[in-house]
Amino acid sequence: MESYLQILKNNRLKITPRRKAVIDVFMNSGSHMGPYDVYGKLKKNLPTIGLPTVYRILAEFKDTGILVQSLSENRQLRYALCTLPNEHHHHFTCRKCRKVEEVEFCNFKGVSRFVEKNLNARVEAHQLQIEGLCSRCK
Ligand SMILES: [Zn+2]
Ligand SMILES: [Zn+2]
Ligand SMILES: [Zn+2]
Repeated sequence: MESYLQILKNNRLKITPRRKAVIDVFMNSGSHMGPYDVYGKLKKNLPTIGLPTVYRILAEFKDTGILVQSLSENRQLRYALCTLPNEHHHHFTCRKCRKVEEVEFCNFKGVSRFVEKNLNARVEAHQLQIEGLCSRCK
């Protein structure tokens, strides 16, 4: 929990009971969830929370790297907790069960050099989306 709260601080997001509760929901579920699932679980302890607030917090957490966002087969948003939020790494999402796994490997340097050389640009960030079938689904 501490490392997630530190990320909130680093991103100038106040540690509110609602934001904490969202992190809790994901830590306790250990699985990926859609906004309605999260909303349903939050409602038990925070009966006044609204769905738009849940959407907003999920978007903030996605932007700060706390959550990993993906789309389900019927184009619904899914979120999973990133367990390595402080390290540069990537994610593998299973297309079938939507499980998100940490990929502690980055081989982007060659691409960066290529872009900087050929576009005469400076690369500052990159995102890599890795999808396929997990060990159980393949
Ligand atoms: Zn991660
Ligand atoms: Zn799978
Ligand atoms: Zn990378």
